[in-house]
Amino acid sequence: MTVRTRFAPSPTGYLHIGGVRTALFSWLYARQQQGQFILRIEDTDRERSTDEAVEVIMQGMEWCGLHHDEGPFYQTKRMDRYKEVIQQLLDEGKAYYCYCSKEYLEQLRAEQMEKGEKPRYNGYWRDRDEAPPEGVSPVIRFKNPQEGEVVFTDLVKGTIRVSNQELDDLIIARGDGTPTYNFTVVVDDWDMNITHVIRGDDHVNNTPRQINILQALGAPIPQYGHLPMILGNDGQRLSKRHGAVSVMNYRDDGFLPHALLNYLVRLGWSHGDQEIFSVEEMSKLFDLEHVNVAPSKFNPEKLIWLNQHYMKTLPPAEVEPHLAFQFEQLGIDASQGPALTDIIPALAERAKTLRELAESSRYFYQDITYDEKAVAKNLKEEAKAALQSMHDKFAALEDWQPEAIHTVVEQVAEEQGLKMGKVAQPLRVAITGNTVSPSIDVTAQLIGKARCLQRLNTAISMIH
Ligand code: GLU
Repeated sequence: MTVRTRFAPSPTGYLHIGGVRTALFSWLYARQQQGQFILRIEDTDRERSTDEAVEVIMQGMEWCGLHHDEGPFYQTKRMDRYKEVIQQLLDEGKAYYCYCSKEYLEQLRAEQMEKGEKPRYNGYWRDRDEAPPEGVSPVIRFKNPQEGEVVFTDLVKGTIRVSNQELDDLIIARGDGTPTYNFTVVVDDWDMNITHVIRGDDHVNNTPRQINILQALGAPIPQYGHLPMILGNDGQRLSKRHGAVSVMNYRDDGFLPHALLNYLVRLGWSHGDQEIFSVEEMSKLFDLEHVNVAPSKFNPEKLIWLNQHYMKTLPPAEVEPHLAFQFEQLGIDASQGPALTDIIPALAERAKTLRELAESSRYFYQDITYDEKAVAKNLKEEAKAALQSMHDKFAALEDWQPEAIHTVVEQVAEEQGLKMGKVAQPLRVAITGNTVSPSIDVTAQLIGKARCLQRLNTAISMIH
């Protein structure tokens, strides 16, 4: 049997961290099992679904590299199929029209509440021969079994049992004939030969109902695995204020997808105490047995830690396109300075995100402005001769490499009877405008000879 999993977002909002984690676990399980991963857009709620949200989902999946093997299938394009299956259930006596008015149902509900019962439909039209009232567009309800129980082994939570008496006859089509959520999911999982439904545990209550419908249709029952919620670090359900924003915000803020995926795979799954997983590695190791049953807490610091880890350790060529995106966002023209692959190893140590890295690299690409404090402290009369000497020695230097540059700085320090720092720091301020940069020889090398000479001249002329 080929494993087939799916991710089935409703395009009613942005694709947030919780959604990406669900997608990731489904995708990983399919990869690990050499199966297939299907993308399905559950857009039947036409009032709340938007094309923009679909676009954001596609973008997010693409950015994360969670490629689907089939789809995207849109539920709105499958309406005829849902109607066909509804008709089949009606013909087989497994579904029925219900003409109850809203008022009747409200009253029923109120009575049940008053008696301390769980509100549920009473099956009024289930087996009734009565002539239907005029002018009512009936809903269609599924005849849920009235006896027995639904038992399934959740791959995360273990055995779950629900008595059929707890379940009332679910509406599968509204008065206007449109199918409802639980029904379309069932038909799709069936038609798409889904073997493993991996989704958030906010759906666990739907599962017994879905299993009953599948059974009525004679369809195979997939395996289910419900993933625990993600909580904010305050223990509350993850929301916007915890950073449960669109996954694309993480891109914009300068996170690598490698870091986000690594972060998310550990959010609810473990493999011993290993923390770092490449995508390839997680695709080999992932399993559902080691998914936590308890909710997981979102920890932004850990995500930052992983982001730094990947900025520092990935081959720079792999980081480059992501950094290029930040350059574009910040309006820095990357063609006006060193190759991005060269600045990544130099700057990654000091930056938490690619955005910070890009921000801190401006002096390689753009005209600099001198920080007043840095100038006052470092560009003083006593440094003037050293800067001039460095300028002249640099001008004569043919081999513009860190080692040769370093030698010049040493020579000048010696010649001027100054400590290294008293030469290197004025040089740093002269060529970057500020006091923080990677080692001075690498910094100068990356800035380039012509630019260094020109900036040294500017700095010297600032010393009176
Ligand atoms: N469309 C549902 C949601 O976005 C998911 C349904 C499912 O996975 O079965 O929550």
